[in-house]
Amino acid sequence: MSAYEHEVKALLSAAGVPVPRGVVLKDQDFGLDFERAGELAEPLVLKAFGPGLVHKSDVGAVALGLSRKDLAGAAAGMRARLEVAGFLVEEQAAAGVELIVGLVRDPGFGPVLLTGLGGVWTEALRDTALRLCPISEEDARRMLASLRGSSLLYGSRGAPPVDVDAVIKLLMTVGGPGGLWERLELGEFELNPVIAGPSGVIAVDARYLPGPGPAAGAPRAATDFLPLFEPRAVAVVGASTTRPNFGNMFLGFYRAAGVPLVAVHPTAAEVAGVPAVPSLAEADVDYALVAVPAERCADVLREAGGVPFVQVMSGGFAETGRPDLEEELVEAARAAGTRLLGPNCMGVYSPRGRQTFVGGGLGPAGQVALISQSGGLAGEVIKVGERRGLAFSRVVTVGNSADVTPAELLRWLARDEETRAVGLYLEDPRDGRELFEALRAAELPVVLLVGGRSGQGQEAAASHTGGMVSDRRVWEAVAEQSGAVLVAGQDDLIGVLAYFQAHGSRHARGGVLVAGPSGGASVLAADAFDLAGVRLDPLPPDAPAALRGLGVVASGNPLEVPVGPLGRAGLVPEVVSALLRSRPYGDVVLHVNVQAFFTYGDAAEPLYAYARAVAQAQAALPDTRITLVTRNGECAPPGVEDEVRRIAAAAGIPVYRSMEAAAVAVAAGGRHGVA
Ligand code: ADP
Ligand code: MG
Repeated sequence: MSAYEHEVKALLSAAGVPVPRGVVLKDQDFGLDFERAGELAEPLVLKAFGPGLVHKSDVGAVALGLSRKDLAGAAAGMRARLEVAGFLVEEQAAAGVELIVGLVRDPGFGPVLLTGLGGVWTEALRDTALRLCPISEEDARRMLASLRGSSLLYGSRGAPPVDVDAVIKLLMTVGGPGGLWERLELGEFELNPVIAGPSGVIAVDARYLPGPGPAAGAPRAATDFLPLFEPRAVAVVGASTTRPNFGNMFLGFYRAAGVPLVAVHPTAAEVAGVPAVPSLAEADVDYALVAVPAERCADVLREAGGVPFVQVMSGGFAETGRPDLEEELVEAARAAGTRLLGPNCMGVYSPRGRQTFVGGGLGPAGQVALISQSGGLAGEVIKVGERRGLAFSRVVTVGNSADVTPAELLRWLARDEETRAVGLYLEDPRDGRELFEALRAAELPVVLLVGGRSGQGQEAAASHTGGMVSDRRVWEAVAEQSGAVLVAGQDDLIGVLAYFQAHGSRHARGGVLVAGPSGGASVLAADAFDLAGVRLDPLPPDAPAALRGLGVVASGNPLEVPVGPLGRAGLVPEVVSALLRSRPYGDVVLHVNVQAFFTYGDAAEPLYAYARAVAQAQAALPDTRITLVTRNGECAPPGVEDEVRRIAAAAGIPVYRSMEAAAVAVAAGGRHGVA
């Protein structure tokens, strides 16, 4: 059932939300008793209600500025045009700033609160902010402050400020702890407009369409994922003795990794030199990787009793329109008492546990974890990331996440002793609410890359709120409220993780200093940091004096300092330490134009000398986060950039090829308040 405006207003009033005083006139014969409006103060508003009347002003079902004697005539006019079940007559609130406050249930993340500049302009302005419920008062304040038109609230052009505290209180009543969002069976709930003035707020329109309640998920006991990442032994199901396939490829990778290994094959005693057993029931392993056609996967799982983790890499399930096969798979896993990873993914990578699904051998064991719903992307992040200096603790691909979800894995990894930062690549995390909770609970840095955010979002329903809550905006709210870093692409995922890997344990405080050659590059650097949301404060007042002895002009921040094949390698570090003596900087971003070193012959050595000087500076300043940007690196002969990276990495300095990438990483560090 959907509730009429006056019914919703009664509910609001009981919850402490101010609504206009009004009377409801219902009379099937339309012998309407307008006398009852007698005690209301003019001007009055007349609104018709009825089952088909949704957007009232669109159909002429709202009349404003009426006197008592106008009511009967206005009502007769509406009745002549519309199918009317009754009328609401209410006092007209004084003009003010019109806001929208709405709730919808996002299919993944549950109740979402939206507010913004509202009234009839809502759709045109699209100036709104949203957060997942429950919101905190701080969330409410930041929502309002983030509106482009926020100056309308805080007073502009001679208009007095509105009672912002009353707006906050209203937002908390709707979306805060214990708020209406908990009590409503949410389809959609919308107050549009709420009129905010200098002495309070009043909700002059209200709409509520109940919807399905939350899907009740059975809570499950926490799983210990250690045997997944460090299995005693591994089984591969699906390798062939005659026609090499994916299964054979994985057997090869595992053999190279050296983990105890068994193949599952119906007839052979061994596959590609690996001993084989006829079914998983005979394999004494912690982990099995299944690469057989989709229709046969459930049968494999039925024999998996005793194997704590089974990963189905095969595709052909829900993602290709066969949710039935996926359900069968999950049921088989439950019945066998095993946890299922996938389907439609790759495997697990964990150098410490000799777990792998990529060729080329195991990389170094490190402290960065990755949870990915795409197997291919995880493979790329491992390979490209390792090339750029990342060292992984655990990587897990979860594909469709039919059983084990990203949220579950994140909770475990957040407490894993070997892990200091987690990257997530998600498309549909299945249990968005749980993921949100896991992100909020995680104390280590989490970097979030979400695919498919540009999609159409939810179907707009009867309310404005529904139409404005897109997937992209919900993910932004998730990141904002949880402290996770939302990045735009794979490069930034790797870049931000590299920053956390290098600097995660430094206890740095203070702003960002940028230094390097070229005026134009310095100006562009300022823009890149601005775009990433990082403010570069001016140099300290005594900077000119501090730099004079070094022959450097205190041009500003970014600071222009010559770096090139002819310059002194140690100049930049000296400039940095001179400035740090008068002001602490948390981040120092040093950039260099690699091309300049190679335009007049092979000048790799001066570039290395510069890198070594920067490395020494980092060693001398353990609580400053130094970041190196090697601009125009493609101009260096092969191998030179790698050597620069190696020198920097040994000192715990992340290296980026563009200022934009460095700015995103530094911004992420600041946002997460590293150390
Ligand atoms: P709709 O169903 O079209 O959204 P509303 O009830 O919101 O109808 O009324 C349309 C507009 O009329 C509102 O945006 C608001 O500007 C104004 N309005 C409605 N009720 C009142 C009221 N009680 N006091 C002041 N303005 C009102
Ligand atoms: Mg309205």
